[in-house]
Order: sequence, then C-alpha cells, then structure tokens
Amino acid sequence: MDFRLTEEQERFRKEVRDFLEGEMKQELWEPTIDGWIMAYDPEFTKRVAAKGWIGLTWPKEYGGQGRCFIDRLILTEEMLRYGAPASCHWFADRQIGGSILKYGTEEQKRELLPKIIRGEMYVGLGMSEPEAGCDLASLKTRAIKKDDHYVLDGQKTWTSGGKYMNYLYLLVRTDPDVAKHRGLSELIITKDLPGITTSPIIDITGNEAWNEVFFENVHVSKECLIGKENDGWRQVMEQLAYERSGMERLMANYPVFEGIIQFAKETKRGGKWLSQDPVIRRKLAQLKIEFEVGRLFMYRVALVMDEGRSPEWEAAMSKAYATAFEQRLASVALEILGLYGQLRPQSKWVKLNGMAYHSYLSSKGYSLQAGTSEVLKNILALRKLGLPTG
Ligand SMILES: Cc1cc2nc3c(=O)[nH]c(=O)nc-3n(C[C@H](O)[C@H](O)[C@H](O)COP(=O)(O)OP(=O)(O)OC[C@H]3O[C@@H](n4cnc5c(N)ncnc54)[C@H](O)[C@@H]3O)c2cc1C
Repeated sequence: MDFRLTEEQERFRKEVRDFLEGEMKQELWEPTIDGWIMAYDPEFTKRVAAKGWIGLTWPKEYGGQGRCFIDRLILTEEMLRYGAPASCHWFADRQIGGSILKYGTEEQKRELLPKIIRGEMYVGLGMSEPEAGCDLASLKTRAIKKDDHYVLDGQKTWTSGGKYMNYLYLLVRTDPDVAKHRGLSELIITKDLPGITTSPIIDITGNEAWNEVFFENVHVSKECLIGKENDGWRQVMEQLAYERSGMERLMANYPVFEGIIQFAKETKRGGKWLSQDPVIRRKLAQLKIEFEVGRLFMYRVALVMDEGRSPEWEAAMSKAYATAFEQRLASVALEILGLYGQLRPQSKWVKLNGMAYHSYLSSKGYSLQAGTSEVLKNILALRKLGLPTG
C-alpha cells in the first residue's frame, strides 16, 4: 500500500505551512491548545477565507474549490499543528456546509454557502439540552408550525460558538406526537431573532467557548428548515459522523506534544537531561506510536468520505481512540513537567505558556463532546461488530 500523498498535495501542505509561519512571524496570534474550538478570531478566519480554504471540498458552482477530503485533512492538520485560532469558521466548514449541500434547498445553498466561504457565518451547534445529552432524541425544544413560520420554545446547552456565533444550527422537536426519534427537524437560524437569549458557560479551563441558549416564543421562517420536516434524526446522525471524524480529535493538544519533547531536550533534572531518562524516552516514544496510529485512522476516515460514504463507525472508532490518546498526552505532559505542569498561564514560572495545564483540564471534556466514548463504542458494537442492542 502506498501511503504517500501526491506531489500536488505536498505542495498544498507547504503552502499552508508557509501561510501559517508568515502569520506567526507577524505575531498575529499565539499558538493555542484547542485553537479550533476555543480560539475565535474573525480576522484570521477572513484571511483563511481569502486563501480559498473554507469550503475546500464544496462544488465550485457554490464558491468552493471542489477538492477532496484528504486535501481538507492536510489543511486542518497544519492548522492544528500550529495551534491556529480557527474556531470562527470550523463548525460551518466541517459539518454545517455539508448538511446544507446535501439537504438544503437551492436558495439555501446560494445564500448560505458563499457566506461560510467568505468567513462571515459563524455557526453554534445547538443539539444538546440539559436533559438530553447521550439520549439526544429525548430533546424538548419545540418548533411548532404556525402559518408560514415555526414558533420556537426551549433551551439548548453547550452550544459552541462563544460570543462570536451569528447563526445557530438547531435540532428541534417539530412533532411531539410520534416516537421520539421521528419528530425531529433541523433548522439554521440567525442568532439575533427576538426571543433568543444566551448565557456563556465558563468551563473548567476558565474559557467561555460555549453557551446556554434560551428560546421564548421565537418566530422562525419555514425557509430555515434544512431538509425534510421530521427527518432530522437521520440527517443529524450523518452530520455527527463529520463532527467526530476530523484531525481536531487527535491534534487539539498538538502544540503540547512538540513542546514537551523540546522541554525534555532542554531540561536537566538531578544533573541529567530529561531526554536521556529511559522512562521519559519510552513515554514519549509510546505517544509517538499512538499518534501515528491515530493519524492513519483520520486519513482512513477522509478516504471513506472521498468515496462518498458517511463514515459512521469509522468516525466513532477514530474519535474514541484519538480522545483517549489526547488525554494520555496531557497526563504525560504533566508528569514530565513535574511541578511546573500545575502552573497557570499567568505564572511567571510557567512552561509551554501553560498549555499543558490547559490541556490536562480541557481534555476531560474531549471524551464527552460530540458523543461520549461509551456512546461511540455502542455505535461500533452495533454498526461494525453487528452485536445486538444492549
Ligand atoms: C466541552 C463540551 C463541549 C460540548 N459541545 C457541544 C456543542 O457544541 N453542541 C452540543 O449540542 N453539545 C455539546 N456538548 C454536549 C455533549 O454532546 C454532551 O455532554 C454529551 O452528549 C453527553 O451528554 P450529557 O453531558 O448529558 O451526559 P449524559 O447523557 O447524562 O451521560 C452521562 C454518562 O453516562 C454515560 N452514558 C449515557 N448513556 C449511555 C449508554 N446508552 N451507554 C453507555 N453509557 C452511557 C455517558 O457516556 C456519560 O459518561 C459539549 C459537551 C462538552 C463537555
């Protein structure tokens, strides 16, 4: 099997690297952990858009580049390697644009896709509710049809998009009288409609990247429905496969990985270089093995997408594997840093800009967001192993 990328793809990787190096040289941003999900920078997003790198895989007729998912993986891999602040466009580029392409009307495609591609549409993902996480189909937010609009009432929680989101993707109940998986629909609405209020969630790291969102008598045009009414469950399952399958599940902490290797090379403890300590060397080498295996999983998922298939079990498998890797990486980083690892970014003694501390805390959530590891293993058991429902 030939694992090499094409020459054109290698050139593309170099182009992305040169762009990011240039950005860093100008000190336009500092590398961060979780840059894809917590670091919102509309100006960066506009510069990425100007390169034509949002909507890379979408058809040219809607402003995309018509490129393959492996190319997009190369792009995101480099964004994550450099810890770039890409949250503004990440969600729309990764999954919402794809849903619009597959299920949206021609008008929705012509209106929304170019907005995403221009780096102007920042979508918060509103699926979970306080009483509906793993059992998402039990959600209660209602959209009741009245004349030419829906009336929306309810609450979402853990809605991404920080304070920057200007659009909301929502999974809502449009028919309360049928089995719970049957009466759901997908909406994309602007965040500024009367009756919508948001309240930031301050997470374990102190960041405000998520929100609680409340809906009270919100009037939503029927044009905001994506796909078929009451067919939202099938549509969202496909979307979730895209949400779970990217390199961000493996490389959100990547700057810590490189940082800790450098730290081991530059630091002496008890008169000996850490990099010569056999225990530390083995731990770092083990992480490298696990990282490379995870990378192959991600490339495999992209290949499945390029074949036009939704990577349901492949995405579940790679996310369960990759988030466990990221949690181990964060633990090993703290072990190697010793007491330095516990310092907050503000401390004058801090190492790696406090990224290890952040990643240790943040990575706890990795195995919850976008499907918990238990749920992902259930999917794998059912869809790949053919085991009966538990
Ligand atoms: C940092 C973070 C970011 C998030 N971002 C978003 C977002 O952008 N948009 C959004 O809509 N949601 C988001 N979420 C919500 C996330 O999808 C839910 O937290 C997740 O689905 C789990 O739901 P829950 O927290 O209600 O836990 P519960 O569903 O109450 O589960 C509790 C525990 O029980 C286990 N469990 C539940 N059911 C089963 C089962 N059938 N088999 C085995 N084990 C089971 C779970 O694995 C978990 O360990 C985010 C969550 C976090 C922590």
